[in-house]
Amino acid sequence: MSRLVLVLAALLLLALALPLPAREPLLLIHGGAGTLRAADMTAAARAEYEAALDEALVAGWQVLAAGGSALDAVTAAIVPLEDSPLFNAGRGAVFTAEGRNELDASIMDGASRAAGAVGGVRWVRNPVLLARRVMEDSPHVFLAGDGAVEFAIDQGLELKPASWFRTEQRWEQLQRSLLTGALPTAADQGRFGTVGAVALDAAGGLAAATSTGGTTAKRWGRLGDVPVIGAGTWADEGCAVSATGDGEYFIRAAAAHAICTRIALAGQSPDEAAAGVLAEIRALGGLGGVIVLDRAGRASLSFSTEGMYRGRADAAGREVAIFGGEGP
Ligand code: ASP
Repeated sequence: MSRLVLVLAALLLLALALPLPAREPLLLIHGGAGTLRAADMTAAARAEYEAALDEALVAGWQVLAAGGSALDAVTAAIVPLEDSPLFNAGRGAVFTAEGRNELDASIMDGASRAAGAVGGVRWVRNPVLLARRVMEDSPHVFLAGDGAVEFAIDQGLELKPASWFRTEQRWEQLQRSLLTGALPTAADQGRFGTVGAVALDAAGGLAAATSTGGTTAKRWGRLGDVPVIGAGTWADEGCAVSATGDGEYFIRAAAAHAICTRIALAGQSPDEAAAGVLAEIRALGGLGGVIVLDRAGRASLSFSTEGMYRGRADAAGREVAIFGGEGP
């Protein structure tokens, strides 16, 4: 009997000493959620969006496939989405009521819980890179406005003139908003465009990042959920989330953190947790979507709108989708 106990104890010690089994890396991205019917989208526009999403998947997947970290993978996936004029992040961002582009971004590393965020920054070509510098090269988590731009300059990050961020489509959206006095919501056409990524690396590390221009015709230094750690972005040792949608409601639901808490404490799957929090947000009056990964590699790409630009990359390949009922 005592010999059996010894053998079991030895086996247990051995199991604890063994390195964690390598994970199957996985990357999810989104390019914003909103209302748009498949019938209203031309084949050419669809192809453009799909190509841009795929480019981001390739950039992020290359990092994971080479054994890189989830943190590097989400950074690599967001940069081309910020550089694309198609998305409401970096170049192509929506306009404030005063006709400016004010950019928000955040990033979080699950294992270390290190996080960085920037709000209301102008001229910075890639706000996600600035958020990452805040995380790694400053003693702070969240910088906003002129101070964040000053930090970007100190860090030698690339700045662009205001004209670089401007697209006619977003400018026209602002003119329509100013005429009607209505602030666009996730239920309106043309509200798509915030970008986000979550990744699981071969070492089991998780990370999340999100970047946006916020909402058309925003005023008074409005910040949404995207740069608020726990609302639009969250990663811990068990789960990573990036959100898009009516930011005010995602903040009030602490959406990204709530999803990970449901997974960790209530034993919910990523799909169940995402559905629960999106239902909570809908009950408050908001719509949107989330991408979620847990440490077991379970994924959810869920939305309460008609569509969400989204994509998934793993060892089996890459897949992108826009409307409901399409995979992934
Ligand atoms: N959540 C973003 C914000 O409120 C906008 C969006 O995702 O469409 O700033």
